[in-house]
Order: sequence, then structure tokens, then C-alpha cells
Amino acid sequence: MEIVPGVHQFKIPIPDNPLGHLNSYLIQGDKGCLLVDTGWNTDEAFLELEGQLRALGLWFRDISMILITHVHPDHYGLAGRIKQNAPTRFAFHLWEKALIESRYIHFSELEAKIGRFLRSHGVPEETADPLQRASLPALEFVTVAWPDEVLYGGETINIGEFQLEVIWTPGHSPGHLCLYEPSKRLLFSGDHILPSITPNVSYHLQSGSNPLGDYVNALQQLKRLPVDLVLPAHEEVFQNVEGRIEAIIRHHDDRKRQILGLIAGGPKPAYQIAQELPWNVGDRWTRLDPLVKRFAVMETIAHLELFRMEAQVRRFTEKGIIYYEMSSP
Ligand SMILES: [Zn+2]
Ligand SMILES: [Zn+2]
Repeated sequence: MEIVPGVHQFKIPIPDNPLGHLNSYLIQGDKGCLLVDTGWNTDEAFLELEGQLRALGLWFRDISMILITHVHPDHYGLAGRIKQNAPTRFAFHLWEKALIESRYIHFSELEAKIGRFLRSHGVPEETADPLQRASLPALEFVTVAWPDEVLYGGETINIGEFQLEVIWTPGHSPGHLCLYEPSKRLLFSGDHILPSITPNVSYHLQSGSNPLGDYVNALQQLKRLPVDLVLPAHEEVFQNVEGRIEAIIRHHDDRKRQILGLIAGGPKPAYQIAQELPWNVGDRWTRLDPLVKRFAVMETIAHLELFRMEAQVRRFTEKGIIYYEMSSP
């Protein structure tokens, strides 16, 4: 589908996943095209991408550069397989490059650390093991590829008549990137801003100390940019970026009130708070998928750590478990 002249959206299927598909964008230039995000590494996704390129009379060799907004499997998974088929250059943020080895190559050390981390936040022994291993199935959907070019934010990528500004938007992932085209007023928002889903912002071993604070700051930065159309990595393109940013910030403010309400009566570990919060996933806590539970716990910690930075909450450790409580007035 041609979204605006020279920008095509390819919907790449993500099997057995509520997101349904990833939006990959092809930006056409006179000396090669830029592809933004790739899809999971499945035959189905690869053939879909190949078929969509062919429909435009193109093949993988016509892609001169692939920009990966962040290294989650649905965005980065197919990168290595494309690289095996064409001499395409790869680019992503430095912090995303730093995650590849620990997540996709030597992952057992990180897995063990995640287990200790979850237990320290009150996850009971019988639940900790499945939560610790919950991300391992995603490994088969990634073929590792290293970037040819590392980005930091602030660069401009010129493709034909498009001048794409690289904007570093940490939070959902520490090196998440958006692309902004100022003259055409387009924002390629990756997973940073989606039209109806609130992206997961988790506190974990590789998130930095205040990922939700980083995320909200990165949202505020984009709020006043002149944007006519947002091209997100999931769901559909949309307008009114400012309204969407305000709605996401309101969602986090509501969450804040709920979480502070839950610890008003006394200290609790993050796992207990996560269990008591309402989650918009249509099922009871005990029946949630381990990965959903893990995201829920880590998202709760991201909120608590933001409140701690704002001095509204403090934490202490007792018998190896971290508790959060309201700061004294
Ligand atoms: Zn993501
Ligand atoms: Zn995604």
C-alpha cells in the first residue's frame, strides 16, 4: 500500500501474536530504497516481504539500507536473512547493538540474572522459573545481523527526496529510534507511539535506571513537532500525534494513581502490586501467559522507579525482597 508518494507500507504477519502484523515501510529513492523494520524470521514473513517488493518490481538488492527501530524480534528478526540475500547496509542505535549478544547469542547469563531479579521483586519460587524462561521461544524468530552503521540520534538519512532525521526515543527499548521527515511532515514512530496500544515500558537489567521517565521525556520531545501523518510499526497510520501523546501520558498518570493507591496502606513488593492492578488482557492474573505476567511485573517496577526518582516512593530490602512504600510527607 502506497501511503504517500514514495512510501509503501508492507504488512508482515506475526504468527500467534495479538499484534497480528508488523508494518514495514519502504521509502523509495533514485539510488536505492530504505526499509524501516523487517518482521519475524519465519518463512511466511520472508515470502510476504519478498512478494510485496516484487509487486513493486523490486528485490532485496534494491534496498540500499535497512533501519531497525529497535531489536525486538518482530522488527529485527528477519534482518539477518535479508542480509544473506543482498548486500544491504544495516543501521540501528548503539544501545540496541549492545543488546544483541546477551539476548540472541549468549543468553543464558542474562536469563539467570532475570530469574534473580524477578525473585528479588517478590515473584514466588513456583512462578519465577516460567517467567524467567518466557522470552526464550522468541529466539527462533531472530537471525542475528550486526549493524554496518551505528546511529546515535541527530543524523539525517537522505533517500531520494526524503531527508529523514533520526530521533533517539528511549523507553520501550533503550536505543529505540524514530524517523522524522520535516518537509513532508511524516513521523515513522516504530513502537514508541502506536494509535491504540500503549507500548510496554519495562524496568529490567538492560533498561537503564528510569525507563518510564526516559519514555515520557521522549514523548514530550515529539509533541510539538509539525507532523501530518504518523506511520507506526503496528496497527494503522494516524494523524494527531499530539493528541495521542497526551492520551498515553494520561494513561500513565491513571496508572500512577492506581499504584500509589495500592501502597498507601503499607509497603509491598512489585510482584504483589502487579497482581493487584487491573490488566487489560481479558483474563485473571493466575491464567496469564508467563511473558505477559513478566511484562506486567517489569512495567509495574518501571512506574515505581519513576516515582522513586520523583521522591514519592522509596524502597527497602528485607530478607532479600525489595519493598516499595510511600515516602513520608
Ligand atoms: Zn518492540
Ligand atoms: Zn513491535
